[in-house]
Amino acid sequence: PVNSHKMVYVRAMTEYWPQEDPAIPCMDAGLPFQKGDILQIVDQNDALWWQARKISDLGTCAGLIPSNHLLKRKQREFWWSQPYQPHNHLKSAIYKEEFVGCGQKFYIGTGASNCYGAVGAPYEEVVRYQRHPANKHRLIVLVGPSGVGVNELRRQLIELNPNRFQSAVPHTTRSKKSYEMDGREYHYVSKETFESLMYSHRMLEYGEYKGHLYGTSVDAVQAVLDEGKICVMDLEPQGIQVARTQELKPYVIFIKPSSMSCMKRSRKNAKIITDYFVDMKFKEEDLQEMEDLAQKMESQFGQFFDHVIVNDNLQDACAQLLSAVQKAQEEPQWVPATWVS
Ligand code: 5GP
Repeated sequence: PVNSHKMVYVRAMTEYWPQEDPAIPCMDAGLPFQKGDILQIVDQNDALWWQARKISDLGTCAGLIPSNHLLKRKQREFWWSQPYQPHNHLKSAIYKEEFVGCGQKFYIGTGASNCYGAVGAPYEEVVRYQRHPANKHRLIVLVGPSGVGVNELRRQLIELNPNRFQSAVPHTTRSKKSYEMDGREYHYVSKETFESLMYSHRMLEYGEYKGHLYGTSVDAVQAVLDEGKICVMDLEPQGIQVARTQELKPYVIFIKPSSMSCMKRSRKNAKIITDYFVDMKFKEEDLQEMEDLAQKMESQFGQFFDHVIVNDNLQDACAQLLSAVQKAQEEPQWVPATWVS
């Protein structure tokens, strides 16, 4: 239903290129958008074509975008028109790769769905949300390819101000060591207890290491937030959807490596590159692999990223992280409309 007094804003959960859409009534009038773009819906009276602007270009004329219904249909037609080819990562995302986490199955690219070929909502209604100073902080989620320094950044941030930032205490099924304390290093639980947390979706992430289960529970994150602190955690990108609840209101920060091609563009950069490799302890091939992985993460999960930081130097990245976290807690941000009742 259209409310003429209140503008509707949505987050694009998919991308759209009018130049590649033969069905658009007028190609030049189309508004191209990428995953994660916030769109102001100017008119949604037509069942097939809406008018919208990007909030980054509010001064411009509105353009045509497919309605929710039409875009969903396009997505579905696209996926089913694709023959199964395992080498294509986009197709295999739907047909093949199955990510198991927190007792749920995730098919990359489909949103939170649990049946083959299902397509998530193409637009998510969003509103401006500003945390009231008296309310709990938002969970800060750090995502990035392994090796990019996500762990190190989290550690440094907490070190800067341990009274303000804290990690959640993970659960484990391994036994406690003599120098450890229950609730400090870990919560030590039985396999049955751990599994019941998993199956009741109370684990945000988990994994197995040397035959034991390790993971972070929603309650452990809540415990940090209840103390008035800012909880900072790393997540695999396919775990973001589990954490994306009204309860935790996560602010997701993507950490990516600096692009090789970008760094190589000038000779002046030689010193920067050397510093980078020394700083990050990398070989060139590792960086290329990491860059590829970062690109995949961005193309599959970019719609969930609230902020992106390029880590080409740990000090700078940490300063940027600190400032982003501050803004996430103190300034208005776009969040799913369902989080604000
Ligand atoms: P340790 O038993 O030596 O304390 O931890 C061994 C390993 O358990 C760590 O190196 C890490 O791989 C894994 N681990 C520890 N905490 C967590 C956690 O919260 N989640 C997951 N998925 N793995 C963890």
